[in-house]
Amino acid sequence: MTMSDPDPAVQDYIPVVNEDSGDAPGCGGSSRLLRDEAAGKANQEILDQYAKDYPVGPHDQPQSMCPAFGSLRVGLRMRRTATVLSGSACCVYGLTFTSHFYGARRTVGYVPFDSETLVTGKLFEDIRESVHILADPDKYDAVVIINLCVPTASGVPLDLLPKSINGVRIIGIDVPGFGVPTHAEAKDVLAAAMLKYARTEIAAGPVARPSGTEADSKPAVALLGEIFPVDAIIIDKLLAPLGASAGPVVPTREWRELYAALDSSLVAMLHPFYSACNREFTAAGKPVIGSAPVGAEGTAEWLEAVGSALGAPADIIAKHRDAMRTAITSAIQANPIKARITLSGYEGSELLVGRLLVESGADLRYVGSACPATRWNARDREWLEAHGVTVKFRASLEDDLCAVDAFEPDLAIGTTPVVQHAKQQGTPSLYFTNLISARPLMGPAGAGSLSQVINTAINNKARFDSMESFFEGVGKGDSAGVWTEDTADRAGLVTPREVA
Ligand code: SF4
Repeated sequence: MTMSDPDPAVQDYIPVVNEDSGDAPGCGGSSRLLRDEAAGKANQEILDQYAKDYPVGPHDQPQSMCPAFGSLRVGLRMRRTATVLSGSACCVYGLTFTSHFYGARRTVGYVPFDSETLVTGKLFEDIRESVHILADPDKYDAVVIINLCVPTASGVPLDLLPKSINGVRIIGIDVPGFGVPTHAEAKDVLAAAMLKYARTEIAAGPVARPSGTEADSKPAVALLGEIFPVDAIIIDKLLAPLGASAGPVVPTREWRELYAALDSSLVAMLHPFYSACNREFTAAGKPVIGSAPVGAEGTAEWLEAVGSALGAPADIIAKHRDAMRTAITSAIQANPIKARITLSGYEGSELLVGRLLVESGADLRYVGSACPATRWNARDREWLEAHGVTVKFRASLEDDLCAVDAFEPDLAIGTTPVVQHAKQQGTPSLYFTNLISARPLMGPAGAGSLSQVINTAINNKARFDSMESFFEGVGKGDSAGVWTEDTADRAGLVTPREVA
């Protein structure tokens, strides 16, 4: 069969496009329409699994960037990996814009479609042709194809693509906004698809040894969740007295690291939403522990859990745990935070940051996360609630804004619209993704680093106050925008014309 021959299996793929609904398919339209559209299609089984992995409610709609960005980012950050999108041009425009805004410096592939190619099944043929063209083993270890909302709803069957071409792995995933609620969980979709592929390769026979593993025979702890690079080094130092080392960070940066992750002795679920990755590690027989070494108490609990899971001697665990607790307590006391704070985000690490804030002395009132409650963040939630913090999973933007208005914090940490809302009220605020996620959080380094950025922001309050008084009344009511006699007329205001 040549790459342009129709695959007999594709005959079963009969996409339906609901052109008469009048309801725009996409995140600006009805996700229920797309879900209904997808019902019974080739990828229904995948959507059913997503419903279990990423439970929704009460908030089940993306209120931030397109969720597929999470998968795209994982693909773009991986060496020798080509990433191709299949979806509406407007979605792809937004996704490529965001990728390059975050410094992807890599090409995003795109297979466009129109009503005809979607309805006739030609889109699948176009996708297949594109992977054949891209699958050059001199350039790539893997080619990733991501079905966005419309191709997923139409059942474009990526599972019918060849699993490998010229030794290049072909990985097709569906990442619709109506099945994967956040971009955080979309990272899980692609990372798990890669782990599954690598697990199959390992089961089939010997695989290439991950670089740098020969010299170090200590048990490794794979780190599940994108973390600031220094945090991986800190965790490695925390593990050394227990006779272990930090393994690869998943999502990985190269294919061989997947083998190393699957070969680890233990998996630390640092970010709690990696449900599908958890399934792959569990299938590989690896134990998984939740939470992270954050703050004095969090680090002590985590070291105990890791030490026990690795079978380290109890006296060594206790000695190391107590030494770290003392060191981190000293670091926290040297860098206290004295402020009322609300915290929200969509990265999945919000509860960990919340724990460190509380230990640092902050009067933390609210933690909102767009991610769901899972067994891996249950302990963090319990700890925060025991310290008087309201924790809201699948928090909507309205929940987060309401918390800012209700608690009147000295500092609001949140997503872009939350930060904007707080600043309009003259309240200092910090963008979670750029300013909180992008710094060390773990162990002794986390305590000093977080308080520095928080206290600097709080100390800016006087500047906010002077800006607010300088711009008092500007941009509100009839002082907003440009008023002409016509617009004033339409708004029912008295105009100079009428006065004359
Ligand atoms: S692919 Fe993303 S941007 Fe496009 S409709 Fe779906 S959720 Fe919205």
